[in-house]
Amino acid sequence: MLDGHGIISVLRLITGASFLTPPRHCYTMPRPALSARDESQQPSRGKAGISMPAVQEGIMKTCTKCSTKQPLDQFCVDASRKDGRHPWCKQCRSRRGKAYYQDNRDSILAQQLIFRRANPEHTRAINRKSIAKNRDKLRAMGREYYRRNKKAVIKRIKRYHKTNPGYWRSWQHRRLRRLRTMGVHTKQDVRNQYQIQHGQCFWCHRLLGDKYHADHYIPVSKGGTNTADNIVIACPSCNLRKFNLMPDEFLARLNDEGQ
Ligand SMILES: [Zn+2]
Ligand SMILES: [Zn+2]
Repeated sequence: MLDGHGIISVLRLITGASFLTPPRHCYTMPRPALSARDESQQPSRGKAGISMPAVQEGIMKTCTKCSTKQPLDQFCVDASRKDGRHPWCKQCRSRRGKAYYQDNRDSILAQQLIFRRANPEHTRAINRKSIAKNRDKLRAMGREYYRRNKKAVIKRIKRYHKTNPGYWRSWQHRRLRRLRTMGVHTKQDVRNQYQIQHGQCFWCHRLLGDKYHADHYIPVSKGGTNTADNIVIACPSCNLRKFNLMPDEFLARLNDEGQ
């Protein structure tokens, strides 16, 4: 029944999570990519600003933190150093960076929040990109979360509808209006289909009795019509779980669930 409308807001509603990955790169200042610096062309400088000879391969350097001897490319470029490299190896620096994040997590996150609030356009663009990129993952996460927290989720949704009484009605309204532009089917069409399916759910073959839904075989949100030839009869559970999945996607999921 539900379709493409606001899948993200539904997910958000279901999990109560914002799904917004903190834009990590937001608070770091832009800097030239290390790979962009060609070391053989740009000799690093010593303390006095005197050009140093280009880094040659095979040169080893000892990390002053972990005291291991490693190839020079295992040390970050640091033009203020005599040999043009940071005295700590990359692993040591990375460990230090992670520890710094752990120790200052709250203030870093607060800084990111300030940045996001000050740059809403940028933030929205980043979020949109991330949501589009991780769509399937987010959906799977949402489903998994729902499976684990069914009771709490239903409670939250009920509470939401109580405090936003117009939401559901206007959503149905919009949906019906859109459906009407996609063709019509009559109650008789639905009864005929019921006969054709011998009163069984199209998807799980359960006997339906008088509790059944008219289900769009191809979801309307994915180009299916609202005409009789796109209507199958389904049990409420299948109809609701099918959501806006294509037939093969839904059958695969039923298969996974062993039904
Ligand atoms: Zn080290
Ligand atoms: Zn069914």
